[in-house]
This record gives sequence, C-alpha cells and structure tokens, in this order.
Amino acid sequence: MLTGRTFIATAGFLAFCASAYHLIMRGQSKPKHCVFCHPLELSRIVYQDPDLLVFHDIKPDAALHLLVIPREHLGTIKELSPDHLPVIRRMHMLGQRLMEEKGFTGDNARFGFHRPPFNSVHHLHMHCLGLPFKPKRAERMFPKDGSAWFMPAERLIENMAAESLV
Ligand SMILES: [Zn+2]
Ligand SMILES: [Zn+2]
Repeated sequence: MLTGRTFIATAGFLAFCASAYHLIMRGQSKPKHCVFCHPLELSRIVYQDPDLLVFHDIKPDAALHLLVIPREHLGTIKELSPDHLPVIRRMHMLGQRLMEEKGFTGDNARFGFHRPPFNSVHHLHMHCLGLPFKPKRAERMFPKDGSAWFMPAERLIENMAAESLV
C-alpha cells in the first residue's frame, strides 16, 4: 500500500528512472519503468478510451492542468513520424473538448508538448493548460508562441502535416 506522500515520491523517482532508462532502452515498445505506461491513481483520471487517457498533472501549473497521453507508448515529439499525425490530431481535439467543457477556450486555453530534453517523462504527453498560470512564472515553461523547450500543439500539427516535423 502506498500512502499519498509515498506515491508522489515514488512517482517522482520513477519519472527520473524513466528518463535514464530511455537513454539506454530507446525504441523499446513498453518500457518497464515508464510511469505513464502503468495504472494511475483513479482520482486523477478525467477521461479514458481504448486509445487515449487524460488525467490531472500531479503538479499543476495553471488553474486547470491536464495531460493527454496515448495508451500506446510513444516517445517524445522528436521520435514521431508523419504516421502519428492522426493520433496527435485526436489528442489535440480531445484536449480542446475537455478544456472547453470546463470553460477554458481561446486565449484561456493552451496546448503543447515539451521538446526533449526539457521533458520529465519520455512517454508522449500533451499539456492542456487552463489559464491563469499558477504561479504566474509557470507561463515561462509554456510560452504561447513556442520556444526551444515548448512546442504548441497547433504548430506541431502544422509541421507534421507539412512533413517537416520538429
Ligand atoms: Zn510509456
Ligand atoms: Zn511535459
């Protein structure tokens, strides 16, 4: 049995291990230590279907902070191929719909991916942020127009559609 505190510590430790593990085991279909490949606390999950899972970020950076992941283990955005465009589009559409249901639309909603090596977990995950950022400085991690460490979902989709990827 894991208490809440132990769970958080364990999850943090596993995220760290996942990064290290991926450096050596890149390309493996379902890494043993990937936190997002294993069941999450049910209370964090807000949506699930056979392909996608949506849950609350364990350390929210905004009024609402959800993560959309494919159940299948995909690596970071650098490891995507044009074949993944449909799944990325679905992740984005689902994220938009769930954020809209909670009242976050237009400039009050932001969607995107951290570019490696600025990602903590190497299982593909899209951040959905309902503004305002909390604390305000968290915005630096998710700049609206993108940066060396953040790729807005809309731009990733455009780039993939143009087959130029990242
Ligand atoms: Zn995974
Ligand atoms: Zn991330």
